[in-house]
Amino acid sequence: MKKPGMSIIERAKEVAEEFEYGEEDVQRATKHFIKQMNEGLERDGATMGQIPSYVTSVPNGTEKGLYLAVDLGGTNLRICSVDLLGDTKFSILQSKCAIPSELMFAKTAAELFAFLATKIEVFLQTHHSEQLLSHRRKPMEILNQNSLNREGFLQLGFTFSFAFEQHALNRGSLLYWTKGFNIPDAIGKDICGLLQEEIDKLRLPVTVAALVNDTVGTLLARSYEASGTTKTLLGAIFGTGTNGAYVEKMSNLKKMKVSDNPAPTEMIVNTEWGSFDNELSVLPNTPYDIAVDMESLHPGIQMFEKRISGLYLGEILRYAILAIAPFSTTMIIRETSLLYKQFSIDTSFLSTAAADLTSDLSAIRQELAQTLGVEANHEDSEAIRRLVLAIGRRAARLAGVAIAAVVIKSGRLSQSTPRTNLSYPAAEDKPSLISTYSFLPEASTKPAINFFGRFFQWIRAFFLQWTGRLAPKPAIIAPVTS
Ligand code: BGC
Ligand code: MG
Repeated sequence: MKKPGMSIIERAKEVAEEFEYGEEDVQRATKHFIKQMNEGLERDGATMGQIPSYVTSVPNGTEKGLYLAVDLGGTNLRICSVDLLGDTKFSILQSKCAIPSELMFAKTAAELFAFLATKIEVFLQTHHSEQLLSHRRKPMEILNQNSLNREGFLQLGFTFSFAFEQHALNRGSLLYWTKGFNIPDAIGKDICGLLQEEIDKLRLPVTVAALVNDTVGTLLARSYEASGTTKTLLGAIFGTGTNGAYVEKMSNLKKMKVSDNPAPTEMIVNTEWGSFDNELSVLPNTPYDIAVDMESLHPGIQMFEKRISGLYLGEILRYAILAIAPFSTTMIIRETSLLYKQFSIDTSFLSTAAADLTSDLSAIRQELAQTLGVEANHEDSEAIRRLVLAIGRRAARLAGVAIAAVVIKSGRLSQSTPRTNLSYPAAEDKPSLISTYSFLPEASTKPAINFFGRFFQWIRAFFLQWTGRLAPKPAIIAPVTS
């Protein structure tokens, strides 16, 4: 409601305050997070999935060989081949493309996976044509699957950025879609099988050998690169969606019966923390959050994710801007304005705004004019910048809750470990083993890196603040690649 005499800056301060999530809130949320982690370890069907990955050891940097990797993310598809050279070294070739939005809503799962297979074919033609020519299967072989000789085939690791129940290293059934995807036909189906089927149709010499969630892949990749220096605890993604996987003691993973002998002592667990506190008992819930959830493809789930990740931050901002716009003396928001259109503000706008240190806030004004057709003056831009910082800070605090909970639960704070490293990729153009960059989609642009530098500094600051257990300057935010 418009209050007479109130300026847009004053109004923005009010709205920014609604995003305040203070130290006590953070402490309470961290406790609750640990509680929900434990519930997930004890029983199926808990709020946080705590899904066993069947990965019981991590690489140590001595691994060798040429492998293919496919990463189906929330926004992009990446195909890579990685040559592990041992000694923590590797070389990598990669290609990336945006996933066409109509495929996110495909009628059948086959349509999506056929797209993946054609991209794998193009990648092989470009980078491994000899391998493709000498081992491509003959049409007749297709008829006789059983006698198929897979010698000379490339082993492919499939990184899949959605929740699935793992049945074996190369088998897992999709539990539910999140982010911008919704292909009901795929639910319950084996994701590896779906991909292999389409690869076989193209007669490619490729075997889908392993299936991992992107967070598990991140943890494994970091373990390969950082072995010798530290033992990696957590792989975290703050991208289109958010999630983490960590190393848990088998004795804590109570819901799982292990028949292997000798029984493994540890296993990587995929937390699926995007659904932390779907009940909203400790998460903040502003009118803007409610609107974002209601309009989302999957209302009522991924409530933690919807306050943190790249698909949603722009949307939260959009609703917050709508709440202050009536107080502007210059911004005219017509009924047909793009500001009323879902996803019209990309999360990269938050990066631009947070990084705009010019005195006239020209970057903010330019972007508002170009992408939304909104003419904002200096005051309007200043007001919007306040909203951006408030939304970003809250997201960072919540992200910090998840990281702190995992670190506290692991017991590492009480060990004599001198410091905790938070690692994140420096930039997209740097080669990294991580086929899944823990980044927002626009990370290749400079402002995004500034924002993310800031985002991680915030996380670090809050992490220190409430664990209070680390030395004054303990956390190093290091790029994954040196
Ligand atoms: C999915 C997770 C995934 C995360 C990050 C979430 O929406 O549920 O499986 O790891 O996004 O990509
Ligand atoms: Mg990704």
